[in-house]
Amino acid sequence: ALALELKGISKSYNRGSAAQVDVLRGVDLALKPGEVVALVAPSGAGKSTLLHIAGLLDTPDEGSLCIGGQDVTGLGERARTGLRRSDVGFIYQFHHLLPEFTAAENIVLPQLANGASQKAARARAAELLDLVGLSARAGHRPAAMSGGEQQRVAFCRALANQPRVLLADEPTGNLDPGTSDQVFGVLMDLVRSSGLSALIATHNLDLAARMDRVLHLEDGAVAAAPQ
Ligand code: ADP
Ligand code: ADP
Repeated sequence: ALALELKGISKSYNRGSAAQVDVLRGVDLALKPGEVVALVAPSGAGKSTLLHIAGLLDTPDEGSLCIGGQDVTGLGERARTGLRRSDVGFIYQFHHLLPEFTAAENIVLPQLANGASQKAARARAAELLDLVGLSARAGHRPAAMSGGEQQRVAFCRALANQPRVLLADEPTGNLDPGTSDQVFGVLMDLVRSSGLSALIATHNLDLAARMDRVLHLEDGAVAAAPQ
């Protein structure tokens, strides 16, 4: 089954008013298992809207969405919340870690919400922190870590429940260029070693070129980048 499939997705804001904006106008997009795809778009093109719909954080006006071969288009809010936890990993430009919890706790919590035991969740958190080279920071709170470290913890949190698909919105856009390159490398290693499918939005064409395929979002539709 495809990891992710969007068919004919349309989305407008302020529908029916003078301020209506048609952001997505029939987006078709498919991600094979293990495929890592770049989504390149100018600011305001609708990439956050697209990622939010793919991640069950927002609903389209039209079109269908399948995750891991399951049609999730018509599901109710309860089922969507469950799938958001179990099947989708989300990474934002800013880490959004919980400030009062340690790095390890930030990775443990979503697993407990998804039904994991304390013991299994702690073991998984330790394994992930090791993979991103942050074992020594497990007991630190976000404020005691650098921007690059905070973002690496956010990667671990997104992967904690072994989702079917990872969605990332400018995952290193908040970091200085040198750190961004290095932290992006960590993300790619993590995604590749777990065999995860990922849709990663970026402005950075050098980073996009390191993925399997590059898609462009323009005029509300998605097209392959010219080779
Ligand atoms: P991107 O992530 O590519 O910058 P967005 O998906 O955030 O683009 O936004 C696409 C367009 O939709 C922009 O013109 C933005 O101003 C508009 N938009 C986004 N969210 C809303 C909203 N909640 N209400 C009205 N307009 C919105
Ligand atoms: P990165 O390349 O991950 O951005 P930096 O060069 O910013 O790392 O930071 C180097 C080291 O300094 C890191 O190990 C980090 O933990 C530490 N550090 C950075 N900022 C802070 C801070 N505000 N408080 C405590 N330690 C910090």
